[in-house]
Amino acid sequence: MVTNSLAELGQRNKVRLVWVPGHCGVTGNEEADALARKGSTNIFTGPEPAVGLPYSYPQGSIDSWTREKCQEDWSRGIGLRQARLLIKGPGAAATRSLVSLNRANIKIITGLLTDHGRLNKHLNTIGLSPDSRCRLCRTSDEDSVHVLCHCPRVIVNRHKHFGAGYLAPEDIREIPVDKVLAFARSTEEDEETLVQSSFIMSLTND
Ligand SMILES: [Zn+2]
Repeated sequence: MVTNSLAELGQRNKVRLVWVPGHCGVTGNEEADALARKGSTNIFTGPEPAVGLPYSYPQGSIDSWTREKCQEDWSRGIGLRQARLLIKGPGAAATRSLVSLNRANIKIITGLLTDHGRLNKHLNTIGLSPDSRCRLCRTSDEDSVHVLCHCPRVIVNRHKHFGAGYLAPEDIREIPVDKVLAFARSTEEDEETLVQSSFIMSLTND
């Protein structure tokens, strides 16, 4: 715009560009300052944004807004009792690990970590099983925390995959998703472990 104005001005005038010190009473400069001040106090009218933005700016804003909203929902603490015990919270690393799995494995791991898999407690709650108790030990409800941390009949598998016979739910939060999955999918040749893993493998059935 400035170039065009100068070109137009130069058609009938001799134009010379010179530097002038600001706020020194040079008439044209004072007038330009006054117009600039006036322009900056006016309310902008026209299509937003008034100044061009790089593509990465709105993308970054949307990303951080999404992260904040996810964190807010998680922190509000409504529902998902077992998931809150077993999962640290929203996070990019865990998301990357999950989406790198195939569909069958994602189904197993989300079912297990959210306690919405095919375990007796959940099946009983939705009316698909008459008994909520663990099919192996019969001492407690069969839910995700019980299977992953407490069931006395899965000690061997738990020790093999997690390095301990019994765990606290918080311990599961620190274990990589692929290790939890390996535990869930584990099958052994010996008869005892095959029985132990039978209910875990039921997670893979529809
Ligand atoms: Zn049990």
